Amino acid sequence: VNGPVGGGPHHVGGAYTRALVSFLRDELGGEGLGAVLRRAGENRPEELLLDDLSWSSYAQFRALLEAAADSLGGPQALTPVGLRLLNPSDFSLNPIVQALGSPEALYANVGAASASVCPIVQLTACEVGEREWLVTQRYTAGFEAYEEYCALQTGVQQISTVIFGFEPAHVVEEQCVCRGDEACVFRIRWVEVDEAVRHATFLENRVRTLEGRLEQFARAVTELVSSDDLKTVLAGTFDTASRAVRAPICVLALDDVPDTTDHVFFNGLSAADAQVLADDVLRPDFLAAPDQLVADVTSTRARYGRLVAVRPDGGFLPQEATRFQAYAGFVAAALDSALALEEARCQGAEARRQGDTARALLELSTALAEVTTIEDVAAKLVRAIPAVMGSDRAMVLLPDRDGKHARVAATFGYPADFDAYVTRQRLPVIERPVGSVEFKDVARLDRESVTYRLMEGVGSAASLLVPIHVDGEWVGEIVASVVSDPDRLRPIDGGDGDRDGRLRGLAAQAATAIRNARLLDQVRHQSLHDPLTGLPNRALILDRVDQMLARARRNHHAAAAMFIDLDGFKEINDTFGHAAGDELLRAVTARLKATLRPSDTVGRLGGDEFVVLVDGASLDAGPELVAERLLAVLHEPFRIIEKQAGVLSVTASIGIATGDRPSAGDLLRDADVALYQAKAAGKNRFLVFEERMQTVVHDRLLLQMDLQSALALDQFSLVYQPICQLKSGEITSVEALLRWEHPTRGQVQPNDFISLLEETGLILDVGRWVLHEACRQAVSWRKLGLPIDMAVNVSGRQLQSERFLRDVREALAFSGLDPTALIVEITESTMMTDVRATASTLAAVRELGVRIAIDDFGTGYSSLAVLRDFPVDTLKIDRAFVAGLGDTAEAAALIHTLIQLGKTLGLRTLAEGIEDAVQYAQLESEQCESGQGFLIARPMPARELEAFLSASAARTPGTSRTAS
Ligand code: C2E
Ligand code: MG
Ligand code: MG
Repeated sequence: VNGPVGGGPHHVGGAYTRALVSFLRDELGGEGLGAVLRRAGENRPEELLLDDLSWSSYAQFRALLEAAADSLGGPQALTPVGLRLLNPSDFSLNPIVQALGSPEALYANVGAASASVCPIVQLTACEVGEREWLVTQRYTAGFEAYEEYCALQTGVQQISTVIFGFEPAHVVEEQCVCRGDEACVFRIRWVEVDEAVRHATFLENRVRTLEGRLEQFARAVTELVSSDDLKTVLAGTFDTASRAVRAPICVLALDDVPDTTDHVFFNGLSAADAQVLADDVLRPDFLAAPDQLVADVTSTRARYGRLVAVRPDGGFLPQEATRFQAYAGFVAAALDSALALEEARCQGAEARRQGDTARALLELSTALAEVTTIEDVAAKLVRAIPAVMGSDRAMVLLPDRDGKHARVAATFGYPADFDAYVTRQRLPVIERPVGSVEFKDVARLDRESVTYRLMEGVGSAASLLVPIHVDGEWVGEIVASVVSDPDRLRPIDGGDGDRDGRLRGLAAQAATAIRNARLLDQVRHQSLHDPLTGLPNRALILDRVDQMLARARRNHHAAAAMFIDLDGFKEINDTFGHAAGDELLRAVTARLKATLRPSDTVGRLGGDEFVVLVDGASLDAGPELVAERLLAVLHEPFRIIEKQAGVLSVTASIGIATGDRPSAGDLLRDADVALYQAKAAGKNRFLVFEERMQTVVHDRLLLQMDLQSALALDQFSLVYQPICQLKSGEITSVEALLRWEHPTRGQVQPNDFISLLEETGLILDVGRWVLHEACRQAVSWRKLGLPIDMAVNVSGRQLQSERFLRDVREALAFSGLDPTALIVEITESTMMTDVRATASTLAAVRELGVRIAIDDFGTGYSSLAVLRDFPVDTLKIDRAFVAGLGDTAEAAALIHTLIQLGKTLGLRTLAEGIEDAVQYAQLESEQCESGQGFLIARPMPARELEAFLSASAARTPGTSRTAS
């Protein structure tokens, strides 16, 4: 039984001392840091304090923090240290935490996550709101709370969001044991950021940590292979693995290692207990407890034993199991190469050659430490093989793109013309058992076989073939060959353990390097692709556009970028939920891909915005034809399973930009402008970019600038459109509609500027003005003896703002309007956005006595269930349904259904856009209560309305409909 490795109690992880020491060095300089360390009685070397994998005891760390607080001017100064806890090169903790994917997931697992770095406290968390959590911290029994630690933890909580690409969280310690509370409670809040930006930052972090981890891993392997006795290798690998797993207890139990007397390596418990645990885990029927992680120490060469880690308070995150298994594999690989070297040394006779072999292996592992791609692994391997194997030449085969064939990825020592020939060949993959070594003597081969022809053609006398496997999957093959004297490679009867061992060692190293390169490849792929659809993301698309433009210049052919945006996607998302929206996006992706040629590119820029790049032959019939085909395939209904959304029909708008541009960004921008125009022109269509479109966009910008000052310059006014009872013709209310008197353009209609107001947020101020002005007008009519109710349009932005309720209250209070005379109109699609928040705001407005109407009803996708629970009084049926009346039976049936729906829900119904008497009559017979439209009256200024009202009151009911 071996002695404990590492030593000292595991109370505070090295990430904490590293963060503190590096912070002190930056703040106080080397001398200041030295003074703090001395005052704390710290005598460990600085290197150790900076090592993420080291540990401190409670007392050591407390002394450090207290001394630091003294020098910095109080405990509060320690909070910023927390932000340094994140270390991109900390290869053991970060990937695990990152794999959780979101701050919410981290908090849901906060106990286990914190136990791995600071086991002296226990954390629990609960969600108290959107992006708001309460984290409770209790000190483990036997450890006293102290102010400095709590101040530090406040900073530590800030990084929980940074890990995932957000800004640092806002953290307040609301209760503290040091202030006499029962536990420490941190309130943590963070703000939403642009998802695309967040995701990119997050992936960048991940790539960096993974790269750091691979480097560290490779360095450790190199060091271990260079050491010369098995015991050192074992102790070293165990130490690395046990510290990396961050568990207080770790045991390596070996049952099958020749040449070693130590069978148990342990850390964090007594020798006797370690022996008991080791005996336990080696039993084949051993079952891990929840606080244990167990992994087999197995390689292709042998099964050596088991590695077990115990974390008594906290358990492990699911992601840790995979990583732990990787470390066990790492121990096994180190054992493999150490044993191979040991064996070589024992042969004695060829001492010199063995020395060379060992050096060659060492050089190889050093070379592999810098590996970046799989190609690179192959290139380094072929150069090492002849030295390790004593062969004349070597080649490495890797799987072809299709995975069914192999290709020669690198060669060494072959004639140049063969090189050129063979690297273009696709060869069949021959499945060989994991860990096998096959000998081929050309003289004994079947002359018809591919192998014979290959070897004979190039002058190889004999070859050794060794497959490379990762997790049982064939990922490559090593071929070592000699040009003469086949016996040099021939296995000697009774086995040549030395040679096979070295060869397998090579294969094992290659497998590790390939696995790492693949991991890195995967991460790179992720950072360039959209996770939902697997399509290239903006970064990759920009690159592809550059390539396309270069190709088009070279070949003098056409190139086009098409922006595709689904119409009304947001409503679908809001109505059926994100899962259904995601499903639709994936279905759209599949259709786009199926429609285009393999040489065309499809990407997703975010949201429901796709981009298609086509050039060369794909454009022979012009970009319009491609766009038409795309619109047509998207037009077919989609069957969405999620939430039983059923069959959904979507349309799309497409903006196309063709021809050369100075940069990829320019081409994409022009396609975007064209898309914008296609949307503005009524959607469900495509438009090709033209120069003049720029001016339209430019125009919009100008309009936007003018809007900024419109309110201050008093350019807004309200017009009022009468609403009548269909049966009696009596005008009971009006709808206030906004108008903008532009100094040079004249009157601008709401459809041209409301969306701009919403985009810029100006709608909040303008909307408030509308409320006040409309209420004031209603009161002044009432004073004239005109009891007219007032309907005001409210946009989603207003409803979502915290001020809205107050605005309504103030408008009522300032004007003195009876709340029951006010009606708030919101559109159906607004209502369906963020249903919960909207419903509660509206409920509060309704509490005041104000009525709620749903505007443009029938154009959104509200579900009956939502409607039923919504605090609504009136449905305003969209004028699109009214317009069809009198023309088709279908339109009549639709109106009938909508009115019945309103009645079933106990709501009033109002029809918008009544333009002729036929529509009026039909609506009346369907018992629609009220109506509004040009037939009754157009919107008009307040003055005119007064005249209109007195005239209409003078008329007898029932004739008013023919008035205007
Ligand atoms: P809306 O709330 O559905 O208002 C009805 C629109 O239909 C008005 O257009 C009105 O002039 C028009 N209209 C009324 N009767 C007929 C008819 O018989 N035939 C036809 N073809 N149209 C008719 P307007 O004034 O251009 O307003 C357009 C939209 O702008 C409004 O639709 C509303 O959504 C929005 N809006 C207007 N004022 C405001 C406001 O103060 N705040 C907010 N947030 N939105 C407003
Ligand atoms: Mg309206
Ligand atoms: Mg409407």
